[in-house]
Amino acid sequence: MKQHHIQRRLPVFYRSEMAADSESFSPSARKPKLVVEGWVATNLAIDVLAPAPATQKELMLSHSREYVEGVLRGERNNGFHNRSSEVAASLPFTSGAMLSAARHVLAKGGFACAPCSGFHHASYERAGGYCTFNGLTVTAIALHESGRAKRIGILDCDMHDGDGTWEIIHRLSAQEYIHHFSTGATFYRADQVEQFFNRLSSELVELSRCDLVLYQAGADPHIDDPLGGWLTSAQLRERDRLVFRTMSKAATPLVWNFAGGYQKEADGTIPKVIAIHDATLEECLAVL
Ligand SMILES: [Zn+2]
Repeated sequence: MKQHHIQRRLPVFYRSEMAADSESFSPSARKPKLVVEGWVATNLAIDVLAPAPATQKELMLSHSREYVEGVLRGERNNGFHNRSSEVAASLPFTSGAMLSAARHVLAKGGFACAPCSGFHHASYERAGGYCTFNGLTVTAIALHESGRAKRIGILDCDMHDGDGTWEIIHRLSAQEYIHHFSTGATFYRADQVEQFFNRLSSELVELSRCDLVLYQAGADPHIDDPLGGWLTSAQLRERDRLVFRTMSKAATPLVWNFAGGYQKEADGTIPKVIAIHDATLEECLAVL
């Protein structure tokens, strides 16, 4: 029986080492800093806690040794198609944020935020689509291996299918203990909104039975996103509200993170993407 946990503030696992300049189209690598600085400046009910970096051993539970060492040494391309030492240095901290947040909610209950992308296109020995190490599987597999969680849910609500996550789960036969629902595999058109919410509701029942849920609250399904385009701002809020309310009611520990979002202004700033992540935070704080 899960214990209901009284939570008034949201722990956000952030440190500056998580952010990097990826020198690419995707703003993912600099987003942790941009979003969290905004939250801290507006005096919201959050506590910023420093995550521990993921160890190489933890990364190697989801990725081959050769790949992990190659990327970290700058001998192999990262998900941004370069060998930037700045990006390499940020990677143990982004996966580490998810792991630290997950350890926190497993110990204390409630929700936490890891303000980074889940990097769901990263597969066992290959980077892809701005993703280097798969923070979702790194977290799920490390916590399962250490005996902290028996069953883990991954709810991936990015625009795009979590193909790297699927590949790692199947390659390592982790489907026994990871329930993975990637909405991008099935839902991507505005005429599927009703179907999407019906399916999400039923998946949430299954996910709420897990010891831990990792929720990728993607901003790129937004109707104006250049790489997405089917849910309105109100529908994204409705999605987040449904997730948070269901998990809160079931007292299922949950960690949420950002995933994609590519709406950019002419000067390179990303206020529309940040507004979507802000809305997710508001919906999360509303159920605490
Ligand atoms: Zn995406």
